[in-house]
Amino acid sequence: MTTSQKIALVTGATRGIGTETVRQLAQAGVLTLLAGRDAGRAKAAADKLVAEGLPVEPIALDVTNPESIAKAVAEVTSRFGKLDILVNNAGIMVDDMSKAPSEQTLAVWRETFDTNVFAVVEVTQAFLPLLKKAEAARIVNVSSQLGSLALHQDPSSPIYNFKVPAYDASKTAINAWTIHLAHELRDTPIKVNAIHPGYVQTDMNGGQGDIDVPTGAKSSVGMALIGADGPTGSFTYLGKTLPW
Ligand code: NDP
Repeated sequence: MTTSQKIALVTGATRGIGTETVRQLAQAGVLTLLAGRDAGRAKAAADKLVAEGLPVEPIALDVTNPESIAKAVAEVTSRFGKLDILVNNAGIMVDDMSKAPSEQTLAVWRETFDTNVFAVVEVTQAFLPLLKKAEAARIVNVSSQLGSLALHQDPSSPIYNFKVPAYDASKTAINAWTIHLAHELRDTPIKVNAIHPGYVQTDMNGGQGDIDVPTGAKSSVGMALIGADGPTGSFTYLGKTLPW
């Protein structure tokens, strides 16, 4: 392994957009760590991509478990001593869609924020020393247009009547985190961006969606591979700016 080999880590990559993000980063020549909360399923998903001839390795990482995060950081530290790309992709949507926003339980809010917000902050903070060791690291936070307060208030927006309040607010929080971290790091080569992957045909949507999974991975991959002239602190879908 030469130090010039780019290393990426994608969380929640055992299925859906995450697996495809790993595939596309590896196809671009990046040695990509496919992170999954279950080590066996991470290995099974990675084995499929390795069989395609791609530079992919599994790593166990439950983003809500501090011990698991510490172990993953220790593994990346001892093997590579740096991390070039972190894609915070793991996410859940557990709102009960049959309920009004006022009826959504606090348990749903807590579970959602544990995975979609607190885990993203904790994973990023834990990997930041390794990201700072890379030449020009990229952090991609997989948000959603459902985190856009402006779109929720626009009667002409397709999400105007779509209400999963805990999930929506968790993505709004990730957008705020993205802006703050980008500001903190703006005098460094590290870029931090939030993306909306599109309405993608994955398990999260019961297979429904406007776009297929390969297209759904493009926004993350695009921001993971941006050059020095690329944005930081942005919120985009396929490179197009979205309203906060
Ligand atoms: P899926 O439900 O298909 O996959 C979610 C992934 O997250 C799974 O690999 C799951 O792992 C993983 N995950 C959940 N909790 C944890 C955890 N504690 N630790 C590690 N991994 C975890 O979702 P998508 O692929 O559709 O979504 C990926 C991201 O894109 C999410 O952040 C989602 O919010 C976002 N998004 C998706 C949209 C869509 O239309 N699909 C639209 C907008 C945003 P496991 O297999 O172990 O359950």
